[in-house]
Amino acid sequence: MSEASNLSGKVIKPGGTIGILGGGQLGRMLALAGRNMGYRFVTLDPTDDAPCGQVADEQIQADFDDVKAARKLATLSDVITYEFENVDAHVTNILMNESYVPQGSELLYTTQHRLREKRAIEAAGVPVAPYAEITSAADLREAAERFGTPCVLKTATGGYDGKGQWVLRSLDEVDEAYETLSRAKTELVLEQFIHFDKELSVIAARSPRGEVKAFPAAENIHVHNILHQSIVPARIPAQVQKEAEELAVRIAESLGVIGLIAVELFLTKDGQLYVNELAPRPHNSGHYTMEACRTSQFEQHVRAICNLPLGSTELLSPVVMVNLLGEHIVPLQELIDRPDFLEHSELGVSAKVHLYGKKEAKEKRKMGHINLLTSDVAKALTWIEQTGIWESK
Ligand code: AMP
Repeated sequence: MSEASNLSGKVIKPGGTIGILGGGQLGRMLALAGRNMGYRFVTLDPTDDAPCGQVADEQIQADFDDVKAARKLATLSDVITYEFENVDAHVTNILMNESYVPQGSELLYTTQHRLREKRAIEAAGVPVAPYAEITSAADLREAAERFGTPCVLKTATGGYDGKGQWVLRSLDEVDEAYETLSRAKTELVLEQFIHFDKELSVIAARSPRGEVKAFPAAENIHVHNILHQSIVPARIPAQVQKEAEELAVRIAESLGVIGLIAVELFLTKDGQLYVNELAPRPHNSGHYTMEACRTSQFEQHVRAICNLPLGSTELLSPVVMVNLLGEHIVPLQELIDRPDFLEHSELGVSAKVHLYGKKEAKEKRKMGHINLLTSDVAKALTWIEQTGIWESK
């Protein structure tokens, strides 16, 4: 069969306009990658001068539930994507009816809700931490007794970066934890606490023609529940890297993903992998791909939603990605014009700085990241220590 007859789904060729729901840094990096490929961009975001609005051809400044604005986005776009997962279902329907949203609404529906997401992962034959649906304090007590403490109570919707979570250290906390999290007026889920050795993530892409590719697994280090570093290659056995990448491909296929899916995983000391959660979009832990892989996650997402062949995910260099939060900007600015900052010849580390164009450097706000390319990730970790930028973490 010729390649052309293998194609299924619409192809959006360069010159077309990609609409992005959301104007944050993920949209910005998506637009920058897609512009290099010849696409035009329009973004919808309520904030003035949004990071993506600065680099897109146009920003529609309106709330995400503004129906008129969603219609305008639909009219201007040949294809629509999103850079966050809590997209209003009503708006998704308008966009699906009036434009082309290859990612569909089902994946959003699944990943917006922890219980639905866990069931979908299990249906793909991939393990998740043992969990229970919680609808009362009595449920919580029974499940916490079964799992033992610590265990983690989470809201099914709306949580991110550790928000909407309660780690129960003892059964004495049952009533307070239930009362506090049930105020969120969403279902709750209790998870067994996984005493993980490492947290990993794998980003996979799938296109309408059914092509699937995974990026190399990243080892992620969080500080105060916010991603601090991604280390690639992850310092785990090659067999586990391969297994993690295979799990992500299996999930992408089973969920019929179009575009990117980020799979966050726990790895235990005895080599068992559990999926923690999914994100159907570019992911902070995939920023390392921008210089370290032959194709970045952003280019790959554009390729996937436009139904172009996917790019190679080959890792070109070991890399450490380190996030720049609001509190890191002043120390960064003090160092950024130093001649040895970009190329540290003694350590053999090359630093690529990415900033997102956010004016206010609020504490804990994601302002940018640095990709440290090196022959050996240990050298990049030394560079991070030596600069002192992250001392205040
Ligand atoms: P999440 O919002 O689900 O990504 O959780 C935020 C962080 O809490 C994770 O990155 C883990 O460090 C920790 N965490 C979440 N769930 C569990 C669990 N079941 N066992 C151990 N740690 C967890």
